[in-house]
Amino acid sequence: AATARMLSSGQVILGPESVVKELIENALDAGATRVDVRLDSCGLDRLEVLDNGRGFSASDADLVAMRHCTSKLADDSGLADLVTYGFRGEALNSLCTVGQLSMATRCQGEELGREYAFDKSGQVVSRRDVAMPTGTRVTVRQLFHCLPVRRQQLRSAKRLREALASVEAAIRSAALANPGVRFALLSDGEALLSLPECASLNDRVRQVLSYAVWQQMQRLDCQINNAVGGRVVAFVPASGADKAMLFRNGDLHSFFIVNRRPVQSAKLVKMIRSTISSAFGVPTKLPVCVLSIELPADALDVNLNAAKTQIGLANEAAVLESIRTMLLDTVPNQSL
Ligand code: ADP
Ligand code: MG
Repeated sequence: AATARMLSSGQVILGPESVVKELIENALDAGATRVDVRLDSCGLDRLEVLDNGRGFSASDADLVAMRHCTSKLADDSGLADLVTYGFRGEALNSLCTVGQLSMATRCQGEELGREYAFDKSGQVVSRRDVAMPTGTRVTVRQLFHCLPVRRQQLRSAKRLREALASVEAAIRSAALANPGVRFALLSDGEALLSLPECASLNDRVRQVLSYAVWQQMQRLDCQINNAVGGRVVAFVPASGADKAMLFRNGDLHSFFIVNRRPVQSAKLVKMIRSTISSAFGVPTKLPVCVLSIELPADALDVNLNAAKTQIGLANEAAVLESIRTMLLDTVPNQSL
């Protein structure tokens, strides 16, 4: 059973970026408006996420890292209209199996915070009072100590750079999905990202993609053309955009958001390639782009894979077709 648990944890937690993603989601679920990520050696020595959310109570501390323990999904409204990111109660428990977890938290009205250390099974093994602002600080040390091969692989300079790029992409995705929240990334003491809160998605896209890229993008809007309803906002390269700057190998600069949830979608990637990349004559590359899709809650199913990044859509074909039509209508052929 221990092995099975480690294997399944290894699936939810593929690298530092998935730890960061899960902890950011928890911070957002706790109502945070500020999220700071701090890494030492790309999180292998220390990975920390601090938020200014509502914290958790002393009576919840014994439960937070136990398997399938979640304070969310409180009522029967169930998975259909899920407004929180978490609902499985797996992330913290999985983290305990792949690293040393401790959490410090202070709720509104409490004079002091409490810091807890957890063992491999998710049980609290120590508790002490700490001075801290309202919110929660989650610290993971010795990530993947039980998976020496993965740890060793990640140690190489190239893999560390890749892992760091993925962490940055995870933070950018969360920032694009939550424009009103402030995010920052500190890596070995160096400020790699600083994303103050924004008033609109436009402002956030400009901030996250950089002004130089933003200047070469256009914004498209469309209603989804089916019984389900919904809308799409897309930021894609404008005609005449600099291909060398806007088209890359790999997908770390293409962001897909469905109802405030960053998702990965092979179908969206394929469609972007066959419309935008093809129009620019670079069908194998992906453009810098942001697609934000808003659908009625009952039109999607997030309960697909453990990392919750794959998403199921009711009427998926119709949704994709609406987006494709919008892109084909507005993105002129640039390949000549
Ligand atoms: P889930 O997010 O699916 O509920 P997790 O394992 O990610 O499961 O978290 C377990 C529980 O720990 C959450 O339901 C929440 O009660 C508590 N928790 C985790 N992170 C935070 C945080 N940053 N602030 C407040 N509570 C938290
Ligand atoms: Mg969670």
